[in-house]
Amino acid sequence: MPRREDAPYRPFCSYRCKMIDLHKWFDEQYRISEPLDAPADTPDSAPPPRDPDEE
Ligand SMILES: [Zn+2]
Repeated sequence: MPRREDAPYRPFCSYRCKMIDLHKWFDEQYRISEPLDAPADTPDSAPPPRDPDEE
């Protein structure tokens, strides 16, 4: 049974696993968040509409 000082990155097994999970989490947040600081005159900042037939 690991003691607390043996698992500093709980619930992750290591710093590497923790960072991998954080990167995935931040990437997801970034994609679903509003482009608050995007210039208003940049039409490309909006994601393309999804084609319902593609899925
Ligand atoms: Zn791991």
